Amino acid sequence: MERMPTTEDGWKAQLTPEQYAVLRERGTEAPFTGALLQEHRDGVYRCAACGQALFASGTKFESGSGWPSFDAALPGAVEYVTDATHGMERTEVVCSQCKSHLGHRFDDGPATTGKRYCMNSVCLEFKPQDSGAGASK
Ligand SMILES: [Zn+2]
Repeated sequence: MERMPTTEDGWKAQLTPEQYAVLRERGTEAPFTGALLQEHRDGVYRCAACGQALFASGTKFESGSGWPSFDAALPGAVEYVTDATHGMERTEVVCSQCKSHLGHRFDDGPATTGKRYCMNSVCLEFKPQDSGAGASK
């Protein structure tokens, strides 16, 4: 499904104000407020802006940070940008398809990868695995 606006006005029309503020203006949602924090079903987390698959449910873990956390992204799903705002150097994670802001990646993750993808719930759309066989397209 193609639904990528080409202008910021287009994004504004498509996204909720909360989504727009985080995805397009690099905001951060308040911790422990995200709808996906308690999501534990099997499935795929997609970009809330363009729909690209970003994270598999098997990589999600409880970080205690208050944001949905993953120890790995799907291959090629995200890109990394050095973020030097707020007086520190962090690795910003953006969607590789629409370049929307998703969150940050830290190096204090669990032993499997050592990475912690700290994502904003509002940037993700969860699709449970058992929804509709043969519903591709
Ligand atoms: Zn995207």
